[in-house]
Amino acid sequence: MKSAILRYGTKAVLAAIVVLLLPFEFPTLTSFFLVKKMVSPNQRTHGASHSDDASAYAKSSGLQRRAFANRQYDHFPTLDSLYNWIDRLQMQYPKLLAVEQIGASTSMGLPLYALKISDNAAVEEDESAVLFSAIHHAREPIGGVLCMRLVENLLRDYRSNAATQRLVDELELWVVPIVNPEGYKYVFDHKLGFPWWRKNLRDNDHDGIFNPTIDGVDLNRNYDYNWQQGGEDNPASWFFRGTKPFSENEIEAMQTLALRENIFAGLSFHSYGEVVLYPWGNYYTAPDQDLIYEVGQKLASCMRKLSGRSTYALLPLNGRVGQSSVWMYGRLRAVDFIVELGDEYYTGERDTRRVVEEGLAGIDYFLNRALVANIRGHVIDGQTGAPLVARIRIKNHESRYVAPRFSEPLFGRFERLLLPGVYTLEVSADGYATQMFPAVQVHADEATELQIMLTKKREVLPAGNH
Ligand SMILES: [Zn+2]
Repeated sequence: MKSAILRYGTKAVLAAIVVLLLPFEFPTLTSFFLVKKMVSPNQRTHGASHSDDASAYAKSSGLQRRAFANRQYDHFPTLDSLYNWIDRLQMQYPKLLAVEQIGASTSMGLPLYALKISDNAAVEEDESAVLFSAIHHAREPIGGVLCMRLVENLLRDYRSNAATQRLVDELELWVVPIVNPEGYKYVFDHKLGFPWWRKNLRDNDHDGIFNPTIDGVDLNRNYDYNWQQGGEDNPASWFFRGTKPFSENEIEAMQTLALRENIFAGLSFHSYGEVVLYPWGNYYTAPDQDLIYEVGQKLASCMRKLSGRSTYALLPLNGRVGQSSVWMYGRLRAVDFIVELGDEYYTGERDTRRVVEEGLAGIDYFLNRALVANIRGHVIDGQTGAPLVARIRIKNHESRYVAPRFSEPLFGRFERLLLPGVYTLEVSADGYATQMFPAVQVHADEATELQIMLTKKREVLPAGNH
C-alpha cells in the first residue's frame, strides 16, 4: 500500500512540473529531466504523458487567449509575410542574396527556404560557411524576426559599412529563418485553438486528420545525435522525437544543407529564457569545452536582458539530445549554440524590438569571431592538386564520441576555431600518407593559414616468392 501512495505522489509531482515547465523552455526543463530520471521506467506510461499534454492544452490556451486579446501577436509576421519579406529582399539584392528551397515541410509541403548572403551569392565560392536558424518550434516567432532583420541589415549595410562588407565578402552566411513553416502557420491560422503549438504537423496516427493531442514531431529532438536518448517516444508528447532520426523533412533538409556547406559555426534561435545553451551539459565533456565555453560566454555577455540588470547567462544543454547544436558539434565539429531569446514567446512590440537588437549584437560578436577561424587552409593531392576530403585532427582535442573536422570536397578547404596556443595537427585522408604538424601557432586575432599537400601511399605488395 505504501508504495502505491508513493507512486501516486511521484506522478502528481511530475504532472505539476510538466505543467509548470510548458511556458518555459529553460531552465525548468533541466529539472524535468532530472526528475524523470528518478522515476523507474514502469512508472511511466503513455497515458500519463498524454493527459499531461491535455492539461497543458487547457491551461495554455487560457493564458494565450489573453495574449491575443492584448494583441500581442499583431507585430509578428505571418508565414506569408515572412515569405514575402524573403521575396522582396531577393528582388532588391540579387547579387548578394540567393534564396534556395532546401525542401518542403513534412505534412503540408510548405517550402523550406535557406538564404545565402555572400559577395557572389549565386556562386559556390571558396569561403567558410556559418549557419543561423530559427523557428524549429512553432510558438517561437522572435528568432525568425531576428534572422530576417540580420539578413536585411547585412544587405542594406554592405556598401556603406566596411565591417559588414568584410563579413559578407569573406564568409558564406546561411540563414534558415523558419525551420517549421507548417507549425508556424498553424499557430497563426488558429489563434484561439492551440496557440502554444511547438511541433510540426506530422500525422502520427495516419488518419489523415491533424489532431493536436496526438500529431506532430518536435523538430529539435529529431537530429541524429543520441536521438534515442532525447525527447519522448510518445507521439502525444510535445517533445516527441519522431519515429527515427531525420524522419522529418525539415530536419533532413537542415542536415543536407549543413553537411553540404560543411558549416563550422552556427546559432539556432529559440525562445525563451535569455540564455545561451552550449553542447554538452551532463553528457560527455566536449573536447573543445574551453573554446565553446569562451565563445559562449562572450556571446552571452553581448546580449542584455530585458530587465537591463544583466546579460544573458551561459548554461549547458543539459540532457537534451537529438537537438541541433549537439548534432552540429558532434557530427560537423561546428561551434554551435542555441540562443533562447527574450522572456516570453510573444513579447510585446517594444520588447520584441529590444530583444532583436540584443540578438543582433550577439550575432555581430559571433560573426566577427567566426571571421577569425583560427586555423584554416586547404588539403590537396600533392601531385594532381585535386582537393581532398581529409580529417583535421588536433592532438588532445579529439574523442571517440565526436566526429573529426573534415575538409570539404570542392576546394579541400577546412577551418577550425581554436583558443590561442600551440597545437599539433594530424591531417589524414584515405589512401594518403598521414601528415603531422607538431607546432602550429594559433593567435587570437588572425588565422593561421595552412596549405597541406598529401602524397598517395605507396602500394605495398604482399610479401612472398613470386
Ligand atoms: Zn524552442
